[in-house]
Amino acid sequence: MKAAVLYEANKPLEIEEFDLPDIADDQVRVRLMASGVCHSDWHIVKGEWVDVNRPPVILGHEGAGVVEEVGPAVHSVKAGDHVVLSWTRNCGLCEMCQVGYSNLCEEPWDQRGQPLFAGGGRPMKRMNALGTFSTETIVPQDVAIPIDREIPFGQAALVGCGVMTGVGAALNTAQVQPGKSVAVFGCGGVGLNVIQGAAIAGAEPIIAIDILDNKLEMGRQFGATHTVNSAQVAPVAAIRELTEGKGAHYAFEAIGLVPEPFAQAIHCTRRRGVTVYVGHAPDNTPVDFDAKILAMEKMVIGSLYGSCRPRIDFPRIFALYKAGKLKLDELVTRVYPLEEVNAAFDALAKGEVARSVLDLT
Ligand SMILES: [Zn+2]
Ligand SMILES: [Zn+2]
Repeated sequence: MKAAVLYEANKPLEIEEFDLPDIADDQVRVRLMASGVCHSDWHIVKGEWVDVNRPPVILGHEGAGVVEEVGPAVHSVKAGDHVVLSWTRNCGLCEMCQVGYSNLCEEPWDQRGQPLFAGGGRPMKRMNALGTFSTETIVPQDVAIPIDREIPFGQAALVGCGVMTGVGAALNTAQVQPGKSVAVFGCGGVGLNVIQGAAIAGAEPIIAIDILDNKLEMGRQFGATHTVNSAQVAPVAAIRELTEGKGAHYAFEAIGLVPEPFAQAIHCTRRRGVTVYVGHAPDNTPVDFDAKILAMEKMVIGSLYGSCRPRIDFPRIFALYKAGKLKLDELVTRVYPLEEVNAAFDALAKGEVARSVLDLT
């Protein structure tokens, strides 16, 4: 199989050939058909988040494909099934799995004999133990989620991270209510999905905030009723103006690059307003606000992977897509072959795309 490896931060990825090891009893070998190129991959290219994914590493964690082979103890999928991979474990036994937050599963990734790829005898890490920038991968059965065969692989892959993270932040983490106001900071792949999650929930108004007009236009396409270019106007005041001077019921930070929007998201909410941190800030990002502003019972909560339970929530997303109520086709801005993964990162860095997809067929 072929895979794209990051050997050193801020260097282009290299395409290499690897041999796959045999699968363990509870593992699944998946022929990958498509992988999204996510901002989290880009964080690692830039030398961030090295605590968990220090290079060399096969990047990619947003993948869809076909099950080729299953171990004798696998009962949840079979050869030929179409699957989307979950980048969190779902052991079913830990406290978080038991209380319905398998996105926070406590099972470590490297348990249960997770195999490493040997290329020329070298062990190789895979991002989130998936490494979807590759033509094949081996995963524990609990992360291979069977899906409807009618869903195109490129669109399906995006549900494995960006779509679930954004839509789930609105529907699962915040549980946005109909007719309530929502502000979304950032119209990238995740922010657009927070917007469409809020639209599915019936929120009104839905205010998109970004510094790029092309991104704000995408925000409108995904359900934003109003847009604020925060490079031109102060966003907190603009959001208050659009919400009867009170502020939004819910605010979502979906950028994760700089500290300011994390504080602005809290400031732009009304009394008892809920702020959800969806974006993952670079390590040691301080959020500077006066603790007193929480006295009006404002709430701040993080959201990981849209508080999803992949076996329940991936099928929900695909049902909404098939009913024409959730956009996936529009997210796939460009398709690249694996060999052009570095061009896909260039487009991401320049803010040119909602999402790029690698065609791995
Ligand atoms: Zn991601
Ligand atoms: Zn668990």
